Amino acid sequence: MSNCAAGLVHAEPYAFVFVQDPDNCFKCKNPGDFINCSSCEKPYHLFCADLERMPDRIWECFECQTISRERLIRNLKEKQRQKARERELKKEKDRLERECAKKQREEEQKIRREQKEQRKNIMKLQKL
Ligand SMILES: [Zn+2]
Ligand SMILES: [Zn+2]
Repeated sequence: MSNCAAGLVHAEPYAFVFVQDPDNCFKCKNPGDFINCSSCEKPYHLFCADLERMPDRIWECFECQTISRERLIRNLKEKQRQKARERELKKEKDRLERECAKKQREEEQKIRREQKEQRKNIMKLQKL
């Protein structure tokens, strides 16, 4: 802490600054020293935020934690849906490839049969 010329006290550069009663605590509606949610900036007493001391990383209020968690779950579900779709597409692709290979084999066999037939006919003609 250092005193400036006007006699005001500057806070140390905390990640979070205690704001002196800008409003009332969002939870208990009482004045005091607050920590602000890093998402919605609503003020909470440390004890109303279930914190024993200032967190040194970002802190989100209960509402924002819930929203974050729901978003996380939504994203996770969306990812699972995407994976399932990819698996379906891969299955379909494999099936088509197998079908294609089968058709090709059948086509080749047909051509070979026809060639054999032609050779037989040529031999028959030569014997005449
Ligand atoms: Zn409170
Ligand atoms: Zn919040």
